[in-house]
Amino acid sequence: MEIQKDCVVSFHYRLSNSDGTELETSRNGDPVAYLHGHRGVIRGLEEAMTGKRQGDVFTAEVPASKAYGARKEGSSQRVPIKHLLTKGRLKPGMAVKINTDNGPRDVTIVKVGKFNVDVDANHPLAGIDLSFDIEIVEVRAASSEELSHGHAHGVGGHQH
Ligand code: ZN
Repeated sequence: MEIQKDCVVSFHYRLSNSDGTELETSRNGDPVAYLHGHRGVIRGLEEAMTGKRQGDVFTAEVPASKAYGARKEGSSQRVPIKHLLTKGRLKPGMAVKINTDNGPRDVTIVKVGKFNVDVDANHPLAGIDLSFDIEIVEVRAASSEELSHGHAHGVGGHQH
């Protein structure tokens, strides 16, 4: 079947920036699964997926405006280290997750202090044009439970 609204899509991806530097890959684990048409992936990627089929291999070029948006200046914040969800040795330039009132958020460390870190609250991929090498592993109709939850279940999706 073709990818359309309310399909569950499983795919492998390799994400790189415009220089071809690999930023992320799913190849060292299970494919990722999402419910199409419910903003489970960034907008530009969802657009590129529409109409593709199981077994399709393609590259999707997604400009920052359809990915994580432009970088905003003045987004530096001081955060207590205890609010970081990422544990271990911290250093400037590291991408970490912090706990916020709106749930976990990806930020980048600018400076490390004794009890606090200064972070750049822009998403680490903000302002970056992205290139996704995609392989569609499976396309199937969503279950009624998945539709009512608004996300995919099973391998690569929500496990609950
Ligand atoms: Zn669910």
